[in-house]
Amino acid sequence: NKQVVLKDYVSGFPKESDMHIIEGTVTLKLPEASSEVLLFKNLYLSCDPYMRILMTEGASSYTPGSPLTGYGVGRVLESGHLDYKKGDLVWGITKWEEYSLVSSDQTTTTTTTKPFFKIQHTDVPLSYYTGILGMPGMTAYVGFFELCSPKKGEKVFVSAASGAVGQLVGQFAKLAGCYVVGSAGSKEKVDLLKNKLGFDEAFNYKEESDLNAALKRCFPEGIDIYFENVGGKTLDAVLLNMRLHGRISVCGMISQYNLTQPEGVTNLANMIFKRIRMQGFIVSDSYNLYPKFLEFLLPHIREGKVMYVEDIAEGLENGPAALVGLYSGRNFGKQVLVVSRE
Ligand code: NDP
Repeated sequence: NKQVVLKDYVSGFPKESDMHIIEGTVTLKLPEASSEVLLFKNLYLSCDPYMRILMTEGASSYTPGSPLTGYGVGRVLESGHLDYKKGDLVWGITKWEEYSLVSSDQTTTTTTTKPFFKIQHTDVPLSYYTGILGMPGMTAYVGFFELCSPKKGEKVFVSAASGAVGQLVGQFAKLAGCYVVGSAGSKEKVDLLKNKLGFDEAFNYKEESDLNAALKRCFPEGIDIYFENVGGKTLDAVLLNMRLHGRISVCGMISQYNLTQPEGVTNLANMIFKRIRMQGFIVSDSYNLYPKFLEFLLPHIREGKVMYVEDIAEGLENGPAALVGLYSGRNFGKQVLVVSRE
């Protein structure tokens, strides 16, 4: 049972060499009847920015010497739970290894539901359940529609706009009748946003010497909704360009995850002057909305009204490179890792 294991806690930018591939020695026992446990063959694993946060030493961090955990899609090989049977396809939290014993326990605490969903719709690519129909899709949906209450004609800005979450926020904004601008880190990504994903405008933040000026150029009348994925200098420039009663959905701050000293935001007082509502959220608080989300999104996918760009890495041994690539923007769309296609 091949596994991707964290060698030691990480400080600064993660490197491929912070992880290694080992042949797991623990034999996987078949789950006992009437337990929550399933024996699971991992098919697709999701590379997600939050995984870096779990590599820093702390209360809920990864354990060095053990496989990484994360979102994935798998097939049930043996089940100790009556609701799951051999052959079922499932997405939820699993481990970075070929075969896993996973818990089907969908415990809901006051704030969080542990995600574990049986896959009912297989007319779309299975890998979509790591992205558009999985955690990142839910994140875009909750963070945009639930937190920002978009109205037709409003002006929306999205950072990390070509990524797993951002590309959907932009398309959702268009469905809601908004004007949407995205920022991304390369010319190819900017082209994707403007020419394929329907963004009204996009810019390469690495080529803008003055982010405030770039935002003024794209939003002469200011921004109503900012979907925050990166933090730092971008957030600071956005605060200057928000309109009165603007909303900021704080989804992530990837520019800060590898810094030992966070970058200061100097324009925070604009929250007061402009009566901005800025709200952080964690997608797992809202998995109760998953059926509603599927009902909304599946028809759009089937009709070709929402598209999804994936960057597929093949084989567990390429997992560390795929994961660390997120922090330099090497991924073009949602970064997926294929463990096995069947
Ligand atoms: P992406 O697919 O967008 O991949 C990460 C991207 O971030 C890279 O491709 C890169 O794109 C960009 N990036 C990396 N470093 C920097 C930097 N220093 N400054 C600016 N951009 C950078 O990831 P996701 O869509 O999965 O995640 C996007 C954000 O959403 C992350 O912050 C993540 O933590 C957060 N998130 C939050 C959730 C929640 O529940 N709140 C759930 C899921 C995600 P580029 O080339 O454009 O720089």
